[in-house]
Amino acid sequence: MEVTAIHVHTLSLDEVEGEKADGSQDACVIEIETDEGITGVGEADSSPAVMNAVVNAPVSHDKSKGLKHVVLGRDPFDVEAIWNDMYEASYFYGRKGAAINAMSGIDMALWDVMGKATGRPVYQLLGGKHRDEVRAYASTLFPADPTNTEHMRREARDALDDGFTAIKFGWGGFGRRRADDVALVGAAREELGPEFDIMVDAGMIWQDDVKGGIRTTNAVDEAHDIFWIEEPVFADNVDGYRRFSRACETRVVGGEEEYTVYGFRDFVDRGEVDGVQPDVARSGGITHMEKIATLAAERGIPLYPHGYSTNLIIAANLHLIAANRNAPLLEYCVEDSPLRWDVTVEDFPVEDGTVQVPEEPGLGVTLDRDTLDRYRTDFAF
Ligand SMILES: [Mg+2]
Repeated sequence: MEVTAIHVHTLSLDEVEGEKADGSQDACVIEIETDEGITGVGEADSSPAVMNAVVNAPVSHDKSKGLKHVVLGRDPFDVEAIWNDMYEASYFYGRKGAAINAMSGIDMALWDVMGKATGRPVYQLLGGKHRDEVRAYASTLFPADPTNTEHMRREARDALDDGFTAIKFGWGGFGRRRADDVALVGAAREELGPEFDIMVDAGMIWQDDVKGGIRTTNAVDEAHDIFWIEEPVFADNVDGYRRFSRACETRVVGGEEEYTVYGFRDFVDRGEVDGVQPDVARSGGITHMEKIATLAAERGIPLYPHGYSTNLIIAANLHLIAANRNAPLLEYCVEDSPLRWDVTVEDFPVEDGTVQVPEEPGLGVTLDRDTLDRYRTDFAF
């Protein structure tokens, strides 16, 4: 089998809010065609315009090529060799960030091809499943106005109505003033009761104030019991993670902006984190998610896959979570964006707080062509 074409579908809502940490406002879907008529689908959760350039750029020299020059003509079953060749071919402009984002989308699509070619769901190609269904947590944002406790109550009630047993709030106005932070989480706790798990994502707000962040984390945790504090500082501030980890009683997690098993080794060992959150559509695709999962398992911590975009990430994460014993939770973005829900024909509904692992060959997704046509945006410079 041979890859004959790579299509980069660049999608965007008509209006994008630049001050909102909502990754479902645009999307980059990558589709790979083969000479046997099997098509694979992946997503690169990054700037779609940049992804298009990373895939289609001309050759500059041996360590600087658009990724299509590596992938076209290759056998999808050589997925790891292709990954390593893409890494080398983008080494000058890659190693972290955009190049690894685009590689992630291509890698995901290659795994989808392999599953379809063998008639097996991806989790089986990864060694088989540890679970048929996965506990999901509703993932949403704090209000921009840190005094808006009614927003917290509304999001909490929605999560209860939808059957979730856990919810994460992130970004927005959190982390500005300690009393507001305690009140925000307290409003959610009041609605949700004592058993519901509440995660807090600080969105790197304490990059320049580790001690202040530790005090706030401990204050919120002591008052309202939080399941974890996420991304308190920049991913590069690995020593900051260690300081949080040593000073906070709750779990300290992060990694949605870390890349490959090379980056995660330092993040885990020096950062002393209590869980890692690589994003399959950013951190290195299914190939490196598996390596990161193994690293985490060997160090005795969970893999909590990140995902805040389309159903393609939901599907890929379900396979990865199924295939890894130390992956107990699915992030389930509840933003209203049509790109969040309508890029695939499949729905992945939450029932009794859990989502079923797909059983169809490959990732188990079908692209909704109407959604692609409706939101297709050809970015011109
Ligand atoms: Mg996050």
